[in-house]
Parts: sequence; structure tokens; C-alpha cells
Amino acid sequence: MKQYDYLIVGSGLFGATFAYRAKQLGKKVLVIDKRPHLGGNVYCEKMEGINVHKYGAHIFHTNSKKVWDFVNSLVEFNRYTNCPIANYKGELYNLPFNMNTFNRMWPEVHTPIQAQAKIDEQKAEAVASLKGRKPRNLEEQALCLVGKDIFKKLIKEYTEKQWGRDCKDLPAFIIKRLPVRMVFDNNYFNDCYQGIPIGGYNKLIEALLDGVECITEVDFFKSKYKTWKKYADKLVYTGPIDEYFGYKLGKLDWRTVIFKTRVEGTPNYQGNAVINYTSHNEPYTRIIEHKHFEMFGQEVYDSPKTVLSEEYSTEYKEGMEPYYPVNDERNNALAEEYRKLSLHEDNVIFGGRLGQYKYYDMAPIIEQVLSIQL
Ligand code: FAD
Ligand code: UDP
Repeated sequence: MKQYDYLIVGSGLFGATFAYRAKQLGKKVLVIDKRPHLGGNVYCEKMEGINVHKYGAHIFHTNSKKVWDFVNSLVEFNRYTNCPIANYKGELYNLPFNMNTFNRMWPEVHTPIQAQAKIDEQKAEAVASLKGRKPRNLEEQALCLVGKDIFKKLIKEYTEKQWGRDCKDLPAFIIKRLPVRMVFDNNYFNDCYQGIPIGGYNKLIEALLDGVECITEVDFFKSKYKTWKKYADKLVYTGPIDEYFGYKLGKLDWRTVIFKTRVEGTPNYQGNAVINYTSHNEPYTRIIEHKHFEMFGQEVYDSPKTVLSEEYSTEYKEGMEPYYPVNDERNNALAEEYRKLSLHEDNVIFGGRLGQYKYYDMAPIIEQVLSIQL
């Protein structure tokens, strides 16, 4: 008899949700994480009484009633609605691109018909220059979607800062994620459910891992658990897939973000949780003011200080946190090779963003775990 049914490497949402389900079924589980805390990237740190999203701003959103009911059965969620603002050289625009944005961009535009005509006119210029072929890169795709004015002020430089590459060298599909709306609606997400756990994400993680044996500051590869078969019947691995295989086919690339967090002695610094800086004038892509995720109305002023994080998007180097898979040919092909290898690993489940080398939002991660046959 082994000590555990499952050894789970990583206490992020994948590992924690898996542990929760296994525990519900009466399985014996051990979760290990190399960080000094549980929760992976949704972990929050309290500063000045404010939950600071230490690994980047996290907004939960989904269309799945199943996922929404599941997380709400563990912790109550508020109705935070993400309405980011773009700051282009001091001009402020609503996102996603909607009637408010179009009126700010072209003051003569007041109605959806006028906005559509303006965008169509600019799109036509871009489409004509392609001479019948499909957009080949992000720049061409964006110009065909929204035209040159929006591309110049709200997309080009932000995207170049985020990905560290010229828009002509990025794949077209990245920009298809940006919704364009002919209504006055600043809600960034189309999903019907959206919010932040009341009291912060740590409450969600605590509820998932309640009663589960967890050990932090244990790196799987440097610990006795590397020989996991001695301890558990099955392994759930949510670390980087290339590391599991000792990088034997080569290393996968990542993009990462450096967060510069500071306290300001004013209750309300920027008036919104998320402000994107869309020109090269500022080296950071966004500033997050964390209190606006969970404090509304008078509550904002009841806490005298505020915590801000500037986000600097950068190339990953060893020792940094791997955040975003790089979607280019080399990395996609290499990841596919690793995924093929993973199919031959008996009794190992490769899960999560790192284990699958795919960008997933939180809700799809939970949805995946809920659908696994245990
Ligand atoms: P993680 O949370 O990364 O957990 C993996 C865990 O494994 C980590 O704790 C790590 O320490 C541990 N680990 C790795 N290797 C080892 C090892 N060798 N030994 C022991 N432990 C190990 N999603 C949304 O829905 N909305 C958002 O607004 C949003 N914003 C995001 C912003 C940023 C900057 C990033 C990077 C992601 C964002 N996401 C967002 C996505 C969200 O973070 C992921 O969906 C979620 O974290 C995935 O959970 P996971 O368990 O796969 O990975
Ligand atoms: N984007 C942009 N301007 C903005 C916000 C986003 O050009 O103000 C582009 C950028 O290329 C980014 C993509 O849209 O990579 C997707 O943005 P989203 O915010 O949906 O994704 P995330 O930044 O969370 O990956």
C-alpha cells in the first residue's frame, strides 16, 4: 500500500481543484509546491489591508454555470466588472473598443452607424493594400479589424511592449481576442459571470485545500518525491512540461512580467483597477490599483492608502516566473513533441498552463479538472 493515491506537484488552481475533487472521493492526497505559499499565480499578499495580486491581476470570468456554481459553493464572489482604461499620451479611452472609444477617437461620431462607417472606411484602406490575400501578421489583422487610428493609438505600441516584438512579426490571432462593440458598453469580457472572491483568491485556495496535506518550499525535482512511485499511485504534474523531461528535446520559451509594486499615501490614485499605457512613452504596459477589485464606493476612501503595481512585460530568463507560452512555430512544435512524450508516461497527468504549455484562463482550468475521470 502506498501512502497516497495522488501526489500533486503544484498548488495552483489546477492542482488545488484536483486535490479538492480527490479528497471528496475519499482519496489520500499530498500537494507539494516549490513556492513559500499555496495558490500558484492567483495567490494574493495583504498590503495596507488590500489584497495585492502578487503574480498579476486576476479577474474571474466564465460562461459556464457549472464552473461558476462550483467556485461560488466554496467562496462568495463580488460583481467586479472589468472596465480597463487606455492612456495614450494622456488621452483616455474606454476599452474594449466600443461606442465610448469611437466617440473619443472621432468626436464627430455619435451613433453606431457613424462609427461603423468610419471603421469601414479605414478597414477598406487596409483590405485594399492586401490585394486579395489574408492578413499575415498582427499589424495587418488589426488594420483590417479596426483601421489605422485605433491601431496607432491603442494597439501598436502596447502590443510591442507586451510581446517585445514588432506587430509585423506577431501572429494575427492574438488580436482576434479584442472585442469590437457598437454599443456603449465598457465591460471587457463577454462572459455572463464575472467577479473576484470576496476576501480575495486565497479564500478560494483555502477552501479547495481544506483538509488536504500540503507542503510548501519543496521542489519536486530536488526532493525525495522525485521518485514519486514510492509514495503515490498517480502523479499530477503542473510544472513546466519541458522540465519534467529534463529539457531533453530543448527548452521552451516564455514571456514573463516584472511587477514593481508601491504604496501611495492617497486613497484613490488612478480611479480604476486597470489602466493600460498604450504608447512607448511609458516603459510599463499597465498599472494596477489593487483596491478597486474589492473596494467600491466609500470603501475606497475608508482605507487611506493604495497599492499600485506597474507591469513590465519581458523575455523569460532562468529564475523568473514562466507566465505566457510563446506562440511561435518553434515553441508550438517543441511543445507538441513534449506532449507526445507525455502520453507515454503511465499514471501521470500533465495539467495546467505550465504542464500543457498553453495559456488558459482560470475558469477553463477548473472546467478541465471537473471533467477528469478520477
Ligand atoms: P499556476 O498557478 O502557475 O500553478 C502552478 C504551480 O506549480 C505553482 O504554484 C508553482 O510554484 C508550482 N510548481 C511548478 N514547478 C514545480 C516544482 N518543480 N515543484 C513544486 N511545485 C512546482 N486568468 C483569468 O481567468 N483571469 C485573469 O485576469 C488572469 N490574469 C492573468 C495574469 C497573468 C500575469 C497570468 C500569468 C495569468 C493570468 N490568468 C488569468 C491565468 C491564470 O493565472 C491561470 O489560469 C492559472 O494560474 C492556472 O493555474 P495552474 O495551476 O495551471 O498554474
Ligand atoms: N491589446 C492592445 N491594447 C490594449 C489591450 C490589449 O493592443 O489596450 C492587444 C495586445 O496585443 C494583447 C491582446 O490585445 O496581447 C490581448 O489582450 P488581452 O488583454 O485580452 O490579453 P492579456 O493581456 O490578458 O493577455
